Amino acid sequence: MSKGLLVVFAGASGVGKGTIMKRLLAGNPNIRLSVSATTRAPREGEVNGREYYFVTREEFDDLLAKDGFLEHAEYVGNCYGTPKEPVFRMLDEGLDVFLEIELKGFLQVKKAYPECVSIFIVPPSFEELQARLHGRGTESEEVIAERLKTAREELEHRHLFDYVVVNDDADRAANEVLSIISDRKSIKE
Ligand code: 5GP
Repeated sequence: MSKGLLVVFAGASGVGKGTIMKRLLAGNPNIRLSVSATTRAPREGEVNGREYYFVTREEFDDLLAKDGFLEHAEYVGNCYGTPKEPVFRMLDEGLDVFLEIELKGFLQVKKAYPECVSIFIVPPSFEELQARLHGRGTESEEVIAERLKTAREELEHRHLFDYVVVNDDADRAANEVLSIISDRKSIKE
């Protein structure tokens, strides 16, 4: 069996990656999403082990010291990391594994695994992103401002990704991601 694809799925906070990802996971049993560890507090509705493994700073540092992360980064005051073992296991099983991560993590993955496919999701406009972050109502004004600043910085690096997909409509964007994946798989085979 051939190995699965390692796909970096990045884009600003609030850009709608989660919605696109849900659509991808729903109809495609070969696609899996890596569950990251984070020191951030759970948002309402988030479940430990589903959206994230919610860990303490000590637990995070412990896994880091054991070389347990494929990549890790600090983002607006919290630590995030991709546990290594499940990702390699799923790739060996031939599954396509998506990492929903930010820019610094992507740069680490790109360096260590140049064969990864990287996709950057952008909003139709910056105003749209602002509106979505405010509309979500899960963060304070201060955190939103920090996240928007980070989003601007990340947008400036979009040329580093293999593909840029505009999230004008979640279904359309999900279909575009699927055709990217199937193109890359046909090149690999
Ligand atoms: P949020 O707090 O909104 O869930 O995530 C904040 C940012 O951290 C998002 O851009 C998200 O994609 C990113 N992120 C989530 N998990 C990881 C991870 O394991 N590693 C890295 N580098 N970024 C992550």
